[in-house]
Amino acid sequence: MTVELISVGTEILMGNIVNTNAAFLSAQCVALGLSCYHQSVVGDNEGRMEEAMQTALSRSELVLISGGLGPTRDDLTKEVAAKVMEKKLVMDMRTRDRIQAYFDRIKRPDITENNWKQAVVPEGAIVLDNDNGTAPGLILEKEGKAMILLPGPPGELLPLFQKKVRPYLEQLQEEKMYSCMVKICSVGESRAETMVADLLEGQTNPTIAPYAKTGEVHFRITAREKTQEAAELLMEPVLKEMKRRFGSRIYTVREEETLEEVVVRLLEQGRLTITTVESCTGGLLSGQLVNVPGASKVLERGFVTYSNEAKIQMVGVSPVTLEEMGAVSQETAEEMAEGGRKAAGADVGISITGVAGPGGGTEEKPVGMVCMACSIRGEIRRETFYFSGDREKIRKSSVVQGLNLIRE
Ligand code: ATP
Ligand code: MG
Repeated sequence: MTVELISVGTEILMGNIVNTNAAFLSAQCVALGLSCYHQSVVGDNEGRMEEAMQTALSRSELVLISGGLGPTRDDLTKEVAAKVMEKKLVMDMRTRDRIQAYFDRIKRPDITENNWKQAVVPEGAIVLDNDNGTAPGLILEKEGKAMILLPGPPGELLPLFQKKVRPYLEQLQEEKMYSCMVKICSVGESRAETMVADLLEGQTNPTIAPYAKTGEVHFRITAREKTQEAAELLMEPVLKEMKRRFGSRIYTVREEETLEEVVVRLLEQGRLTITTVESCTGGLLSGQLVNVPGASKVLERGFVTYSNEAKIQMVGVSPVTLEEMGAVSQETAEEMAEGGRKAAGADVGISITGVAGPGGGTEEKPVGMVCMACSIRGEIRRETFYFSGDREKIRKSSVVQGLNLIRE
């Protein structure tokens, strides 16, 4: 079933407000298994609104419209929708009583005449009572198509959608979308896509869609089915094949799980404590770990050793190593990880030292070069990365790969 959205409001067109309703509604529709191919924004203008509605109705089975249901002169959505759907406008006594009750409840006896405009509805419309405002939502049906009108304020639209519109859409819709997310780090976006190019091609059910995040690639596998079990059966072979190709580079297949959560979970399961020793990331890595509730069970402490003196004094890096190999070197990273681990009395020490830029790069050690080491009770894993991007991106990429180094 196809759905499209029209957001009404000159404020949205002008960029005065952000169209959060459209983001919310499209995510909800997709989750319900509706195919959402178009979105449009139109100002509070009768002619253009009519044109947008006609276009939407000509190519989609459902049209979801937000905004312009209020009592003022520029609120025209209902009137134009009635015209497009060829419905007369009639007074809905139940809504009239609700509006009266609403004003009684908020102790406003001075109801202005234009408020009654909101009790006028297209004939035959399904009226969706709005508990948070006066304008009701409306569903107008005609010849197997439907237009759903919702008030613009998110505080009214969101609850109205959840309580009234979702059940209506669910009942129209037998099949739903189920999805899982394959999350990978330490493979670049284009390489990851190439590795599954044959799987991506020609997929219909399930579909596979890649998303790139800083330092990570996610693949969403989505199946359209009547039940969760049936969808899982459809997704299983694809998931299995992706696990075969990416192996341990997949850190989770659960959509809601983050890399730092996986790391904290693994440390907790292994009863290991960790300490971070950070130079160019300046505490970002430990901050990321602290984001996870329950991090206190595993994170012992974090050192930010930005200067050479700090590296020497706080975690015992040798001045000779710093002098001969430099602060950004595999040797320094190793001494940071192991020294920090010992100083904190933790099981694991992870270190990051690199050139975040924009200045400070040399031919031998360019901007984006980042050395890391992870010591697990003295057993050391090390890695050097060459990241691209600006300072912020390099620091973020470093955190992702630092977390991944602990995980591996
Ligand atoms: P009202 O009764 O408040 O006039 P309405 O249904 O007529 O409601 P609009 O007049 O279009 O809705 O918008 C009212 C307010 O709702 C806007 O000022 C804005 O704050 C918010 N709003 C409207 N549309 C959106 C949107 N697409 N995304 C986020 N907020 C919105
Ligand atoms: Mg309005």
